[in-house]
Amino acid sequence: MDNQSPPNTRRVGLDFDGVIVDHTGHKIEVAARSGLRLEPRQTNTNLFHQLVSVDDYRPMAQVIYGEMTETAPAVSGAIEHLPLIPGAAFIVSARRALWQPSARHWLTSHGVFGVIPEARVFLAADERAKVQQVIQLGLTDFLDDKLDILCDLPPTMRRWLFDEYGVADELNLPSGITPVRSWADFIRQLTQG
Ligand SMILES: [Mg+2]
Repeated sequence: MDNQSPPNTRRVGLDFDGVIVDHTGHKIEVAARSGLRLEPRQTNTNLFHQLVSVDDYRPMAQVIYGEMTETAPAVSGAIEHLPLIPGAAFIVSARRALWQPSARHWLTSHGVFGVIPEARVFLAADERAKVQQVIQLGLTDFLDDKLDILCDLPPTMRRWLFDEYGVADELNLPSGITPVRSWADFIRQLTQG
């Protein structure tokens, strides 16, 4: 027997919006056009939807997830840490057909397909389809910034809440969902577990 580690069987899924691509600045900018002043932490998806009505949100989403995505920066540390994910990494995102080209453009221009092959990137039509896709792929771990998505995933999966702004305490986090404050924190906990 050699002393090599057994093959890593981790299958780690990642959300895209708010985990890999950072819409903070764009959300602040677009909300300001409607007279709503937001602090960066209020752009967190779990809080944003408490502050912005569905009717106000629709036209905002149109630009944020459409053309604006292409100029959105990466979440701090995301690009640097993607290659450090143990096992196989996947991206599973809920993006309407109309908003998928901007996501693919962003992933291409940031070299993500060089780290996560395009065949492992799934853009689902809506959140329900996204959850189904994550389950179908048999992922062992999933990282998302939206608590509702993680709550819909099976408890056998290791579920990680990307919590850049530290809002987890305000969300009544169910047991089995682990908050991580940064990409470095995520990789550290993922590789320890
Ligand atoms: Mg997200």
